[in-house]
Amino acid sequence: MSCTAVASGSGDSCANCGKQGSDTVKLKKCNACQLVKYCSVECQKAHRKQHKKACKKRSAELRDETLFGQGHDWPEEAFCPICTLPIQPPMGYHSKFMTCCVKRVCNGCCLATQTRGSNDCPFCRTSTDFPDYKSAIAMVRKRAEKKDPSAIHFLGDKYFFGNYGLKKDVPRAVEMWTEAAELGSLKALCALGNAHLNGLGGLAIDRAKGFEFWETAARKGHADSRHNLGTSELQLGNCDRAARHFVIAAKLGVKVSLDAIKDMFKRGDATKDQYAEALKGYQAAMEEMKSHDREVAARVGFAGYSKRTAKSLTDSDPSMQTSALRKIFSGHGASKRRKKLNEKQTSPKVAPAGQTFDCGPRKIQNPVQGTTVKKTSVSWFVDHLEIACNHPSSVQL
Ligand SMILES: [Zn+2]
Ligand SMILES: [Zn+2]
Ligand SMILES: [Zn+2]
Ligand SMILES: [Zn+2]
Repeated sequence: MSCTAVASGSGDSCANCGKQGSDTVKLKKCNACQLVKYCSVECQKAHRKQHKKACKKRSAELRDETLFGQGHDWPEEAFCPICTLPIQPPMGYHSKFMTCCVKRVCNGCCLATQTRGSNDCPFCRTSTDFPDYKSAIAMVRKRAEKKDPSAIHFLGDKYFFGNYGLKKDVPRAVEMWTEAAELGSLKALCALGNAHLNGLGGLAIDRAKGFEFWETAARKGHADSRHNLGTSELQLGNCDRAARHFVIAAKLGVKVSLDAIKDMFKRGDATKDQYAEALKGYQAAMEEMKSHDREVAARVGFAGYSKRTAKSLTDSDPSMQTSALRKIFSGHGASKRRKKLNEKQTSPKVAPAGQTFDCGPRKIQNPVQGTTVKKTSVSWFVDHLEIACNHPSSVQL
Protein backbone atom coordinates (compact mmCIF):
# COMPACT_ATOMS: atom_id res chain seq x y z
CA MET A 1 0.00 0.00 0.00
CA SER A 2 1.36 3.38 -0.98
CA CYS A 3 1.38 6.30 1.42
CA THR A 4 -0.15 9.11 -0.62
CA ALA A 5 -0.75 12.51 0.82
CA VAL A 6 -4.34 13.52 1.43
CA ALA A 7 -5.66 17.02 1.45
CA SER A 8 -6.97 16.99 4.94
CA GLY A 9 -6.71 14.77 7.93
CA SER A 10 -9.99 15.81 9.37
CA GLY A 11 -12.10 12.92 10.49
CA ASP A 12 -10.42 9.69 11.37
CA SER A 13 -7.67 9.33 8.83
CA CYS A 14 -3.99 10.15 8.73
CA ALA A 15 -3.40 13.51 7.03
CA ASN A 16 -0.38 12.09 5.23
CA CYS A 17 -1.21 8.53 4.14
CA GLY A 18 -4.95 8.43 4.56
CA LYS A 19 -4.88 5.37 6.79
CA GLN A 20 -8.06 5.04 8.81
CA GLY A 21 -7.88 5.00 12.59
CA SER A 22 -8.75 1.67 14.23
CA ASP A 23 -7.97 -0.44 17.28
CA THR A 24 -4.53 -1.15 15.86
CA VAL A 25 -3.94 2.22 14.13
CA LYS A 26 -3.99 4.97 16.72
CA LEU A 27 -4.15 8.43 15.18
CA LYS A 28 -2.61 11.36 17.02
CA LYS A 29 -3.62 15.01 16.59
CA CYS A 30 -1.07 17.65 15.65
CA ASN A 31 -0.38 19.24 19.03
CA ALA A 32 0.06 22.75 17.72
CA CYS A 33 -3.10 23.18 15.67
CA GLN A 34 -5.36 20.26 16.60
CA LEU A 35 -6.49 20.33 12.96
CA VAL A 36 -5.02 17.12 11.58
CA LYS A 37 -4.19 13.60 12.70
CA TYR A 38 -1.31 11.27 11.89
CA CYS A 39 -0.81 7.53 12.15
CA SER A 40 2.91 7.83 12.92
CA VAL A 41 5.75 10.24 13.61
CA GLU A 42 7.10 9.40 10.15
CA CYS A 43 3.84 10.50 8.51
CA GLN A 44 3.85 13.69 10.55
CA LYS A 45 7.43 14.45 9.46
CA ALA A 46 6.64 13.69 5.82
CA HIS A 47 3.64 15.98 5.93
CA ARG A 48 5.35 18.85 7.76
CA LYS A 49 6.29 20.97 4.75
CA GLN A 50 2.79 20.80 3.33
CA HIS A 51 1.07 21.39 6.66
CA LYS A 52 3.34 24.09 8.07
CA LYS A 53 1.45 27.15 6.83
CA ALA A 54 -2.02 26.04 7.90
CA CYS A 55 -0.64 24.76 11.19
CA LYS A 56 1.05 28.07 12.01
CA LYS A 57 -2.07 30.04 11.17
CA ARG A 58 -4.39 27.86 13.24
CA SER A 59 -2.07 27.61 16.24
CA ALA A 60 -1.77 31.42 16.29
CA GLU A 61 -5.57 31.64 16.23
CA LEU A 62 -5.85 29.14 19.08
CA ARG A 63 -3.26 31.06 21.08
CA ASP A 64 -5.16 34.32 20.57
CA GLU A 65 -8.45 32.75 21.51
CA THR A 66 -7.13 31.95 24.97
CA LEU A 67 -5.00 35.10 25.20
CA PHE A 68 -7.89 37.47 24.59
CA GLY A 69 -10.63 35.19 25.87
CA GLN A 70 -9.12 34.50 29.29
CA GLY A 71 -7.85 36.60 32.19
CA HIS A 72 -10.80 39.00 32.40
CA ASP A 73 -11.18 38.42 36.13
CA TRP A 74 -8.86 39.32 38.96
CA PRO A 75 -6.66 36.48 40.16
CA GLU A 76 -6.66 35.37 43.78
CA GLU A 77 -3.50 37.32 44.56
CA ALA A 78 -5.28 40.59 43.64
CA PHE A 79 -7.70 40.43 46.58
CA CYS A 80 -7.17 41.93 50.02
CA PRO A 81 -7.39 39.06 52.54
CA ILE A 82 -9.24 41.26 55.04
CA CYS A 83 -11.95 43.17 53.16
CA THR A 84 -11.87 40.57 50.31
CA LEU A 85 -12.13 43.33 47.68
CA PRO A 86 -9.80 43.38 44.68
CA ILE A 87 -6.86 45.76 45.13
CA GLN A 88 -6.50 48.47 42.54
CA PRO A 89 -3.47 48.21 40.28
CA PRO A 90 -0.68 49.09 40.59
CA MET A 91 -0.97 47.06 43.75
CA GLY A 92 2.29 48.40 45.17
CA TYR A 93 0.61 51.82 45.53
CA HIS A 94 -2.70 50.63 46.89
CA SER A 95 -1.61 47.96 49.34
CA LYS A 96 1.17 46.93 51.67
CA PHE A 97 3.12 43.75 51.63
CA MET A 98 3.29 42.31 55.13
CA THR A 99 6.63 40.67 55.69
CA CYS A 100 5.28 38.75 58.71
CA CYS A 101 2.63 36.73 56.89
CA VAL A 102 3.56 37.62 53.27
CA LYS A 103 0.01 38.88 52.66
CA ARG A 104 -0.81 41.98 50.67
CA VAL A 105 -3.28 44.12 52.63
CA CYS A 106 -5.07 47.08 51.04
CA ASN A 107 -4.37 50.64 52.20
CA GLY A 108 -7.92 50.90 53.53
CA CYS A 109 -7.54 47.94 55.86
CA CYS A 110 -4.05 49.05 56.95
CA LEU A 111 -5.25 52.53 57.84
CA ALA A 112 -8.34 51.17 59.59
CA THR A 113 -6.12 49.00 61.81
CA GLN A 114 -3.91 51.93 62.67
CA THR A 115 -6.90 54.13 63.30
CA ARG A 116 -7.98 51.63 65.96
CA GLY A 117 -4.65 52.32 67.62
CA SER A 118 -2.89 49.13 66.62
CA ASN A 119 0.52 48.98 65.05
CA ASP A 120 0.26 45.25 64.48
CA CYS A 121 -0.10 43.52 61.15
CA PRO A 122 -3.75 43.88 60.13
CA PHE A 123 -3.82 40.25 59.00
CA CYS A 124 -1.79 38.08 61.40
CA ARG A 125 -1.48 40.55 64.31
CA THR A 126 2.28 40.19 64.52
CA SER A 127 3.92 43.30 65.90
CA THR A 128 5.40 45.33 63.09
CA ASP A 129 7.91 47.17 65.21
CA PHE A 130 10.85 45.42 63.63
CA PRO A 131 14.22 46.69 64.74
CA ASP A 132 15.54 46.64 61.16
CA TYR A 133 15.14 45.26 57.67
CA LYS A 134 17.17 42.22 58.62
CA SER A 135 14.43 40.88 60.87
CA ALA A 136 11.79 41.64 58.22
CA ILE A 137 13.80 39.73 55.62
CA ALA A 138 14.32 36.86 58.08
CA MET A 139 10.55 36.47 58.41
CA VAL A 140 10.11 36.41 54.65
CA ARG A 141 12.92 33.87 54.32
CA LYS A 142 11.12 31.55 56.73
CA ARG A 143 8.09 31.63 54.43
CA ALA A 144 10.27 31.21 51.37
CA GLU A 145 11.79 28.07 52.87
CA LYS A 146 8.26 26.70 53.07
CA LYS A 147 7.93 27.40 49.32
CA ASP A 148 5.54 30.33 49.55
CA PRO A 149 5.53 31.91 46.06
CA SER A 150 4.83 35.44 47.33
CA ALA A 151 7.75 35.27 49.74
CA ILE A 152 10.14 33.98 47.06
CA HIS A 153 8.99 36.63 44.60
CA PHE A 154 9.44 39.33 47.24
CA LEU A 155 13.00 38.21 47.95
CA GLY A 156 13.68 38.13 44.21
CA ASP A 157 12.61 41.77 43.96
CA LYS A 158 14.82 42.75 46.87
CA TYR A 159 17.84 41.07 45.26
CA PHE A 160 16.98 42.81 42.01
CA PHE A 161 16.98 46.25 43.61
CA GLY A 162 19.60 45.50 46.23
CA ASN A 163 17.46 46.91 49.00
CA TYR A 164 16.21 45.68 52.40
CA GLY A 165 19.87 45.25 53.29
CA LEU A 166 20.44 42.68 50.53
CA LYS A 167 23.27 43.02 48.06
CA LYS A 168 22.08 43.59 44.49
CA ASP A 169 22.24 40.28 42.67
CA VAL A 170 20.20 40.20 39.45
CA PRO A 171 20.99 36.58 38.44
CA ARG A 172 19.81 35.50 41.88
CA ALA A 173 16.67 37.61 41.46
CA VAL A 174 15.93 35.85 38.16
CA GLU A 175 16.46 32.48 39.85
CA MET A 176 14.02 33.38 42.61
CA TRP A 177 11.40 34.73 40.19
CA THR A 178 11.69 31.50 38.22
CA GLU A 179 11.05 29.44 41.33
CA ALA A 180 8.17 31.70 42.42
CA ALA A 181 6.62 31.54 38.93
CA GLU A 182 6.77 27.76 38.96
CA LEU A 183 4.96 27.84 42.30
CA GLY A 184 2.21 30.04 40.84
CA SER A 185 3.23 33.68 41.40
CA LEU A 186 1.85 35.84 38.58
CA LYS A 187 3.98 38.79 39.64
CA ALA A 188 7.04 36.59 39.19
CA LEU A 189 5.90 35.62 35.69
CA CYS A 190 5.55 39.30 34.90
CA ALA A 191 9.04 40.08 36.23
CA LEU A 192 10.46 37.18 34.20
CA GLY A 193 8.81 38.54 31.07
CA ASN A 194 10.63 41.80 31.58
CA ALA A 195 13.88 40.00 32.41
CA HIS A 196 13.80 38.10 29.10
CA LEU A 197 12.81 41.14 27.07
CA ASN A 198 15.66 43.16 28.49
CA GLY A 199 18.23 40.40 28.93
CA LEU A 200 18.54 40.87 32.69
CA GLY A 201 20.65 38.75 35.00
CA GLY A 202 22.66 37.05 32.27
CA LEU A 203 19.63 36.07 30.18
CA ALA A 204 19.78 36.52 26.42
CA ILE A 205 17.40 39.16 25.05
CA ASP A 206 14.44 37.14 23.82
CA ARG A 207 11.26 39.02 23.00
CA ALA A 208 9.24 35.92 22.16
CA LYS A 209 10.08 34.35 25.50
CA GLY A 210 9.33 37.58 27.34
CA PHE A 211 5.94 37.78 25.65
CA GLU A 212 5.25 34.17 26.57
CA PHE A 213 5.71 34.91 30.28
CA TRP A 214 3.46 37.96 30.13
CA GLU A 215 0.87 36.08 28.12
CA THR A 216 0.78 33.25 30.65
CA ALA A 217 0.26 35.76 33.47
CA ALA A 218 -2.29 37.80 31.46
CA ARG A 219 -4.34 34.67 30.73
CA LYS A 220 -4.65 34.29 34.50
CA GLY A 221 -5.78 37.87 35.02
CA HIS A 222 -2.49 39.61 35.86
CA ALA A 223 -3.26 43.23 35.09
CA ASP A 224 0.32 44.57 34.83
CA SER A 225 1.29 41.83 32.37
CA ARG A 226 -1.78 42.63 30.29
CA HIS A 227 -0.84 46.29 30.21
CA ASN A 228 2.76 45.46 29.28
CA LEU A 229 1.53 43.36 26.37
CA GLY A 230 -0.59 46.29 25.17
CA THR A 231 2.36 48.68 25.36
CA SER A 232 4.66 46.25 23.57
CA GLU A 233 2.17 45.54 20.79
CA LEU A 234 1.72 49.28 20.35
CA GLN A 235 5.46 49.75 20.04
CA LEU A 236 5.47 47.04 17.39
CA GLY A 237 2.74 48.89 15.51
CA ASN A 238 0.07 46.25 16.16
CA CYS A 239 -2.68 48.68 17.10
CA ASP A 240 -5.60 46.29 17.16
CA ARG A 241 -3.82 43.81 19.43
CA ALA A 242 -2.65 46.67 21.66
CA ALA A 243 -6.18 48.05 21.94
CA ARG A 244 -7.60 44.63 22.83
CA HIS A 245 -5.03 44.23 25.61
CA PHE A 246 -5.66 47.74 26.94
CA VAL A 247 -9.43 47.17 27.04
CA ILE A 248 -8.98 44.07 29.21
CA ALA A 249 -6.43 45.78 31.46
CA ALA A 250 -8.71 48.81 31.89
CA LYS A 251 -11.49 46.46 32.96
CA LEU A 252 -9.12 45.13 35.62
CA GLY A 253 -8.66 48.69 36.87
CA VAL A 254 -5.43 49.76 35.17
CA LYS A 255 -5.64 53.52 34.77
CA VAL A 256 -2.64 53.81 32.44
CA SER A 257 -4.28 51.30 30.08
CA LEU A 258 -7.39 53.46 29.96
CA ASP A 259 -5.20 56.50 29.25
CA ALA A 260 -3.38 54.60 26.54
CA ILE A 261 -6.54 53.60 24.72
CA LYS A 262 -7.88 57.11 25.04
CA ASP A 263 -4.77 58.40 23.27
CA MET A 264 -5.10 55.68 20.64
CA PHE A 265 -8.69 56.68 20.04
CA LYS A 266 -7.69 60.34 19.66
CA ARG A 267 -5.08 59.35 17.08
CA GLY A 268 -7.51 57.11 15.25
CA ASP A 269 -5.67 53.91 16.25
CA ALA A 270 -8.56 52.55 18.33
CA THR A 271 -12.28 52.63 17.71
CA LYS A 272 -14.82 54.61 19.68
CA ASP A 273 -16.39 51.32 20.79
CA GLN A 274 -13.07 50.09 22.14
CA TYR A 275 -12.54 53.29 24.10
CA ALA A 276 -16.12 53.23 25.39
CA GLU A 277 -15.78 49.60 26.47
CA ALA A 278 -12.52 50.36 28.28
CA LEU A 279 -13.99 53.40 30.02
CA LYS A 280 -17.13 51.57 31.11
CA GLY A 281 -15.11 48.59 32.28
CA TYR A 282 -12.68 50.76 34.20
CA GLN A 283 -15.52 52.60 35.95
CA ALA A 284 -17.16 49.30 36.88
CA ALA A 285 -13.85 48.03 38.27
CA MET A 286 -13.39 51.19 40.34
CA GLU A 287 -16.89 50.74 41.72
CA GLU A 288 -16.14 47.15 42.67
CA MET A 289 -12.87 48.06 44.37
CA LYS A 290 -14.34 50.96 46.33
CA SER A 291 -14.76 50.95 50.10
CA HIS A 292 -15.10 53.57 52.80
CA ASP A 293 -11.72 52.73 54.33
CA ARG A 294 -10.00 52.89 50.95
CA GLU A 295 -11.54 56.26 50.22
CA VAL A 296 -10.28 57.60 53.53
CA ALA A 297 -6.83 56.18 52.83
CA ALA A 298 -6.76 57.79 49.40
CA ARG A 299 -7.97 61.11 50.75
CA VAL A 300 -5.24 61.39 53.35
CA GLY A 301 -2.61 60.12 50.94
CA PHE A 302 -2.02 57.02 52.98
CA ALA A 303 0.69 55.19 51.10
CA GLY A 304 4.42 55.21 50.91
CA TYR A 305 6.19 56.41 47.87
CA SER A 306 9.65 56.96 46.69
CA LYS A 307 10.59 60.07 44.75
CA ARG A 308 9.81 58.57 41.35
CA THR A 309 6.57 56.89 42.25
CA ALA A 310 5.30 59.92 44.09
CA LYS A 311 5.79 61.97 40.97
CA SER A 312 4.30 59.47 38.57
CA LEU A 313 1.37 58.93 40.87
CA THR A 314 0.56 62.57 41.37
CA ASP A 315 0.90 63.08 37.66
CA SER A 316 -1.60 60.35 36.93
CA ASP A 317 -3.92 60.89 39.86
CA PRO A 318 -3.56 64.14 41.78
CA SER A 319 -6.18 63.16 44.33
CA MET A 320 -3.91 60.43 45.63
CA GLN A 321 -1.33 62.53 47.35
CA THR A 322 -0.77 65.89 48.89
CA SER A 323 2.34 67.88 48.15
CA ALA A 324 3.20 67.96 51.84
CA LEU A 325 3.18 64.21 52.04
CA ARG A 326 5.21 63.93 48.88
CA LYS A 327 7.83 66.07 50.58
CA ILE A 328 8.11 63.63 53.46
CA PHE A 329 8.40 60.59 51.32
CA SER A 330 10.71 61.78 48.65
CA GLY A 331 13.78 63.70 47.82
CA HIS A 332 16.95 64.57 49.61
CA GLY A 333 16.72 64.22 53.35
CA ALA A 334 13.47 62.26 53.27
CA SER A 335 14.61 59.78 55.90
CA LYS A 336 15.65 62.65 58.20
CA ARG A 337 12.24 64.24 57.81
CA ARG A 338 10.52 60.95 58.58
CA LYS A 339 12.70 60.51 61.64
CA LYS A 340 11.92 64.00 62.84
CA LEU A 341 8.26 63.31 62.33
CA ASN A 342 8.54 60.18 64.45
CA GLU A 343 10.36 61.96 67.27
CA LYS A 344 7.62 64.54 67.54
CA GLN A 345 5.00 61.86 67.69
CA THR A 346 5.34 60.49 71.16
CA SER A 347 1.74 60.74 72.27
CA PRO A 348 -1.13 59.73 70.04
CA LYS A 349 -3.84 62.29 69.43
CA VAL A 350 -7.53 61.71 69.53
CA ALA A 351 -10.03 63.52 67.38
CA PRO A 352 -13.77 63.26 67.31
CA ALA A 353 -15.29 61.84 64.15
CA GLY A 354 -15.47 64.20 61.23
CA GLN A 355 -12.95 66.66 62.65
CA THR A 356 -9.45 67.17 61.45
CA PHE A 357 -6.37 67.66 63.49
CA ASP A 358 -2.88 68.56 62.62
CA CYS A 359 -0.82 65.48 62.05
CA GLY A 360 2.54 67.03 61.43
CA PRO A 361 2.82 68.10 57.84
CA ARG A 362 -0.59 66.77 56.86
CA LYS A 363 -4.15 67.02 58.08
CA ILE A 364 -5.81 63.75 58.79
CA GLN A 365 -9.48 63.28 59.27
CA ASN A 366 -10.31 60.77 61.90
CA PRO A 367 -12.84 58.45 60.34
CA VAL A 368 -13.93 56.69 63.54
CA GLN A 369 -15.26 58.50 66.57
CA GLY A 370 -13.08 58.51 69.62
CA THR A 371 -10.35 56.40 68.12
CA THR A 372 -6.68 57.06 68.17
CA VAL A 373 -4.50 57.83 65.27
CA LYS A 374 -0.84 57.19 65.86
CA LYS A 375 1.25 59.54 63.90
CA THR A 376 4.04 57.00 63.66
CA SER A 377 1.98 55.30 61.00
CA VAL A 378 3.59 57.39 58.31
CA SER A 379 7.03 56.05 58.92
CA TRP A 380 5.93 52.52 59.65
CA PHE A 381 4.20 52.07 56.37
CA VAL A 382 6.93 53.70 54.39
CA ASP A 383 9.45 51.33 55.84
CA HIS A 384 7.42 48.21 55.34
CA LEU A 385 5.83 48.61 52.01
CA GLU A 386 7.07 46.84 48.99
CA ILE A 387 8.85 49.54 47.03
CA ALA A 388 7.01 49.81 43.77
CA CYS A 389 9.28 52.27 42.05
CA ASN A 390 11.32 51.01 39.16
CA HIS A 391 9.61 47.68 39.57
CA PRO A 392 10.85 44.89 37.33
CA SER A 393 7.27 44.29 36.28
CA SER A 394 7.16 47.59 34.47
CA VAL A 395 7.55 47.47 30.73
CA GLN A 396 10.71 48.45 28.97
CA LEU A 397 11.31 47.23 25.47
ZN1 LIG B 1 0.06 7.94 7.89
ZN1 LIG C 1 -0.58 21.32 13.00
ZN1 LIG D 1 -8.69 45.46 52.51
ZN1 LIG E 1 1.15 39.60 59.09
